[in-house]
Amino acid sequence: MSKTILSIEDLSKTYQTAGGLVSALDHVSFQLQEGELLAVMGTSGSGKSTLLNLIGAMDEPTTGVIKVNGIYDKTMFKEPKATIYRRENIGFIFQSFNLLKDLSVEENIALPLILKGEKDGVVKEKVSKMLKIIGLEEWRTHRPVELSGGQQQRVAIGRALITSPPIILADELTGNLDFNTSTDILQTLLKMKEAFNQSIIIVTHDPSVATYADRVLFFHDGKIVDEYTCTEETEDMNAILQKFQRILERPA
Ligand code: ADP
Ligand code: MG
Repeated sequence: MSKTILSIEDLSKTYQTAGGLVSALDHVSFQLQEGELLAVMGTSGSGKSTLLNLIGAMDEPTTGVIKVNGIYDKTMFKEPKATIYRRENIGFIFQSFNLLKDLSVEENIALPLILKGEKDGVVKEKVSKMLKIIGLEEWRTHRPVELSGGQQQRVAIGRALITSPPIILADELTGNLDFNTSTDILQTLLKMKEAFNQSIIIVTHDPSVATYADRVLFFHDGKIVDEYTCTEETEDMNAILQKFQRILERPA
């Protein structure tokens, strides 16, 4: 039986800008099941990054509720609670990898464990295991600049997943990678999801990436305007392409 890990209820975000109010997210509701891989597709500016930022408590919603395991804590967006919430619940993976350039591969991956106050022995053991999963054992002492884009993203995935956070948020994680490298990254992510039973939201504008998902939500103008449940791969690609095409043709 599936269990809801994340419940988004009537979530809205309005930004105050010099040009007036911008509605980035407009009464969005959906649920994420434990172990589910959910893809979020949408035009540029449709509110995808805003959604991930709110779920990650990087920003505070204007209205609405974010429940993790059925619990809503409206103070979760304020520091120091936001940092604690993120540390316990969220792994972030970005398009630009966001690795610390002065740290080695193993130091980058170890960072969340060290911030959590894990003992040296535990850190060493977990990092070694992770290096094996992401296939970078021989690169452990190298710095990010010495790695290819795909290798850097594997480090970022390792870092995001090292503390086994229940929820992974990935914003265009293959956006800077070629097709073969993207495939490799998505396979790595799936392998780790399987190993740790994590729930993942992946923002993408690439239909072939979305076919890896269990379900796809289509965003336009801050709202969910369509949805697709994946079945069999060849069929999925066409269905997702078609639905995405329809959204691209909508007036802004
Ligand atoms: P996406 O990730 O789908 O491209 P975003 O969530 O980044 O879209 O942005 C949604 C809308 O909100 C856009 O119109 C964007 O300009 C606006 N927006 C996002 N962040 C801010 C911000 N910090 N301040 C003002 N407007 C913002
Ligand atoms: Mg974005």
